[in-house]
Amino acid sequence: KILLGLESSCDDTAAAVLRGREILSSVVMGQTELHAAFGGVVPEIAARAHAEKLDLAVEQAVAQAGISLQDVDAVAVTAGPGLIGGVLSGVMMAKGLAAGLGKPFVGVNHLAGHALTPRLTDGLSYPYLMLLVSGGHCQFLIVRGAQDFTRLGGTIDDAPGEAFDKTARLLGLPQPGGPSVEATAVGADERRFAFPRPLLDREGCDLSFSGLKTALLRLRDRLVEAQGGLHEADRADLCAGFQAAVRDVLREKTRRALALYLAEAPAEPAFAIAGGVAANQAIRAALETLCVEHGVRFTAPPLRLCTDNAAMIAYAGSELLAAGETSDMALSARPRWPLDRSAAPLLGSGK
Ligand code: ATP
Ligand code: FE
Repeated sequence: KILLGLESSCDDTAAAVLRGREILSSVVMGQTELHAAFGGVVPEIAARAHAEKLDLAVEQAVAQAGISLQDVDAVAVTAGPGLIGGVLSGVMMAKGLAAGLGKPFVGVNHLAGHALTPRLTDGLSYPYLMLLVSGGHCQFLIVRGAQDFTRLGGTIDDAPGEAFDKTARLLGLPQPGGPSVEATAVGADERRFAFPRPLLDREGCDLSFSGLKTALLRLRDRLVEAQGGLHEADRADLCAGFQAAVRDVLREKTRRALALYLAEAPAEPAFAIAGGVAANQAIRAALETLCVEHGVRFTAPPLRLCTDNAAMIAYAGSELLAAGETSDMALSARPRWPLDRSAAPLLGSGK
């Protein structure tokens, strides 16, 4: 089966073609330049850009896959959660393509796309434990099926990627903050500054990162006051201290999530980390070590499939279709769409 996937829920316009688990093409068109002057994603600008670029993204994905549009067996599209204007553009595009081709289409939860990526890249079998850690999200999920997720806990305030981005901004480092903070922290002293380890005293798998940003701000201001500015070494040690705190919190909470997951005695225990923050080598290494200690297979999809892309949407769509799910013209864009089992059903035809 050949699937065309569409993704337009945030600031990347993406289209991809999958044949089974083989990625024939994956086109991602960013909008960083469009939003740069505003210090964040502007929903109206994003919506217009998606509407303008989706055609081109599909055209390129189909061309790079070496197929023609008529070869597509089904279309999968992100139907939420995300910025409503962008999601709507994608959903309308999918409806148009499906109607024009006379093929089925299916609305996919963006988060399910991220959560199912380890099956696309590493062929993990259900159930596996997943840490989704990005600019907008941080949660532990037991992934039991394409529409069956158990959320063990998540951030009660900022996402770690957001915290990395804010840290970079406070220290005058370039965006996105994750890579620049990580690079600045290399070889620096992570113990020089005392950063808190939020929520470790509380039971469970919930996390908190907003306190780290406050701590960083205070440490920075104290240095600036005392010496009139930041030296290179200060900046590096602040980055290292911040990153170590995020790493320690994620490691401890992952330890707890693993205990809950392993209590279910999964046949092939596996852990996957995904989302933009999964690119961080310090965090990755800490979690990999933890998994090895527990006899759990560790996987981390390649970065281009960890950040927003349409291959993951096509893949999630293929699992939904295989389970007999399709959407109809009543499919609507959902700005909010939690993955919890307890929440609204994953596949909505509108209501
Ligand atoms: P979501 O898809 O969950 O809505 P998003 O699109 O912002 O959020 P991603 O594209 O998955 O998330 O990831 C981007 C985030 O990952 C940014 O906040 C970025 O700073 C962070 N990030 C990228 N590389 C690294 C790194 N090496 N270390 C830490 N954070 C990183
Ligand atoms: Fe995403």
